[in-house]
Amino acid sequence: MTEVQFRRLMGGTIALSTDILSTLQLRGSFCLPDEAGYDEARTIWNAMIDRRPAAVVRCRGASDVMRAVRFARDNSLLVAVRGGGHNIAGNAVCEDGLLIDLSPMRSVRIDPKSRTARVEPGVTLGEFDREAQAFGLATPLGINSTTGVAGLTLGGGFGWLSRKLGFTVDNLIAADVVTADGALVQTSAVEEPDLFWAIRGGGGNFGIVTSFEFKLHAVGPDLVSGLIVHPFGNARDLLAGYRDAAAAAPDELTVWAVLRKAPPLPFLPAEVHGKEILVFAVCYAGEPANADKALAPLRALGEPIADVIGVQPYVAWQTAFDPLLTPGAFNYWKSHNFTALSDGLLDTLVAYVGTLPTEECEIFIGQVGGASNRIDAAATAYPHRDANFVMNVHTRWRERGDERAAIKWARDFFEATAPYATGGVYVNFMPEDETERVTGAYGSNYARLSALKAKYDPGNLFRLNQNVLPKA
Ligand SMILES: Cc1cc2nc3c(=O)[nH]c(=O)nc-3n(C[C@H](O)[C@H](O)[C@H](O)COP(=O)(O)OP(=O)(O)OC[C@H]3O[C@@H](n4cnc5c(N)ncnc54)[C@H](O)[C@@H]3O)c2cc1C
Repeated sequence: MTEVQFRRLMGGTIALSTDILSTLQLRGSFCLPDEAGYDEARTIWNAMIDRRPAAVVRCRGASDVMRAVRFARDNSLLVAVRGGGHNIAGNAVCEDGLLIDLSPMRSVRIDPKSRTARVEPGVTLGEFDREAQAFGLATPLGINSTTGVAGLTLGGGFGWLSRKLGFTVDNLIAADVVTADGALVQTSAVEEPDLFWAIRGGGGNFGIVTSFEFKLHAVGPDLVSGLIVHPFGNARDLLAGYRDAAAAAPDELTVWAVLRKAPPLPFLPAEVHGKEILVFAVCYAGEPANADKALAPLRALGEPIADVIGVQPYVAWQTAFDPLLTPGAFNYWKSHNFTALSDGLLDTLVAYVGTLPTEECEIFIGQVGGASNRIDAAATAYPHRDANFVMNVHTRWRERGDERAAIKWARDFFEATAPYATGGVYVNFMPEDETERVTGAYGSNYARLSALKAKYDPGNLFRLNQNVLPKA
């Protein structure tokens, strides 16, 4: 008999025999440190996170999740829940606790007649997109195909389709949730509507989702998308032009501005590689024939180095940024929401891009708004319906020695741009050290979330997340 020391929720440890884990009678499996599957389960996208759970339950279905939650609750174990393992804060893994790994649960079922999808919580965006696009269908998801559907959805979820079709949570129809008592609760607008409201932006605070049901829309399969790349010299004027073009854009058009050093992409001349550039990343989610007109104001700006916009499969565009966002690097993020791109913000942006700490650091300004802002802030737990732009500072490095300078640069830039921001932040972009921003992340919905946390998880079993405290 082997004993495992687990960290408990309230501190301290408890020794449990592996025989107890065996009696869980899982469809999946459990593993202990250094056993097969253990390192795979604990390794996540951000290499900054290197935690060693006491044990991992690799779930194959809802029954495994229910058993794992009851086991954790009965023994007051610290619990982490892993979907796609992409979250920057690293809460998908815990030190010495129980890791409930959902990544083996990967089924996607598309119903083309009702235009709905049933998706398990280990599925990645790329897997979901590929299944749905086989029928010319899609729901709004993020821009990197290896991100998990589960964490993205529970925090809100936005990407190239959001200005036309809303956030991912706006397209969630129903979900099965294993709550802290180990019971499975079916939720939708009519069944347990409070819980359904809370999981649409409240993160993993309320239970473990074992199945998501999404609304699908006719998308593509071919769309106009691609990049316009400019030299950095004229960036300030170009960004002011971008601001005007973005304000005039129809809902079908989404343009993100990316500021970074040029990677060695084949369509960029060698003399630009390693130099600062301004990139407009474009997706027109309408009829390709109408794209030129919508793109004209953006194309009228400056003299680009490259304009590689064309008709291509939506699934191909959904993987376009994958080579720049590979797992395994050290990453630290800072994020702000903006209603508008003010002059002061643009001046600050341009100044800081001149001091990027490593080749792989970049600033993304994601254009949102459109349909996603015509939804009441209280309609779902995701509250930031005033944001027209979400800025995410991706600080990224490969050498441990670059860590201090990279994080300092990100924090300085974040402080310098704070006066122009709303004060809100997208919960899925928060690093682990931003606990003081949690109430800002849930904004005007925090009080209702806190009351629902007291109802569904009064003991705060699900605390490794951007944590909503149960109302006293
Ligand atoms: C390269 C990259 C690109 C990104 N691009 C976008 C983007 O375009 N748009 C966007 O909106 N976001 C984007 N994100 C952010 C992304 O939405 C979050 O990182 C999200 O949390 C990832 O979900 P996951 O399942 O992969 O992560 P995980 O780290 O596995 O999970 C995150 C957290 O969610 C909770 N959780 C996960 N699964 C469940 C479940 N089934 N039930 C209950 N709780 C659960 C847990 O608390 C967990 O700690 C991006 C992230 C990365 C790294």
